[in-house]
Amino acid sequence: MSDVLSFEPPLHATKHCRHYSYEPGLSGGPRCAVGCAMSEPGSLGRCMPEPRGECPKREEYTADERAAWKVARAASMARLANAVQALPRAIPLNTSGEIDCPNCSGKLRYARWHRGAEIACTTPHCCGAHFNIAGGVDWPSRGEAK
Ligand SMILES: [Zn+2]
Repeated sequence: MSDVLSFEPPLHATKHCRHYSYEPGLSGGPRCAVGCAMSEPGSLGRCMPEPRGECPKREEYTADERAAWKVARAASMARLANAVQALPRAIPLNTSGEIDCPNCSGKLRYARWHRGAEIACTTPHCCGAHFNIAGGVDWPSRGEAK
């Protein structure tokens, strides 16, 4: 590992079986890393945090993995909050721009349109989000500034 800022997330350690994942998209769906059949009715229940039924291959994430995930998740939420704090307020509708990211040496890009906004840092996994915003509302609101 180098000392370049990296926000590479750790293993997504949920309370599901560690072989379980869900792939988004049309051809996506639930997946099992060790090839359990996922298509029979009720089979998914064995992968869930509170398993219904028993799978002989089920394995849990370790407490350390879950703790690392929790820490990384909290850090990620904090970076997002920092980023929103650093934005100009309010961002005029139908504009976009870029500021120095308050979390890293990257650039924080933002865009604002009617009923929405998006921010994204150029550093992978630093921060980014889509926001739905009610019509006629300033965003970020001036009151949110610290
Ligand atoms: Zn950043």
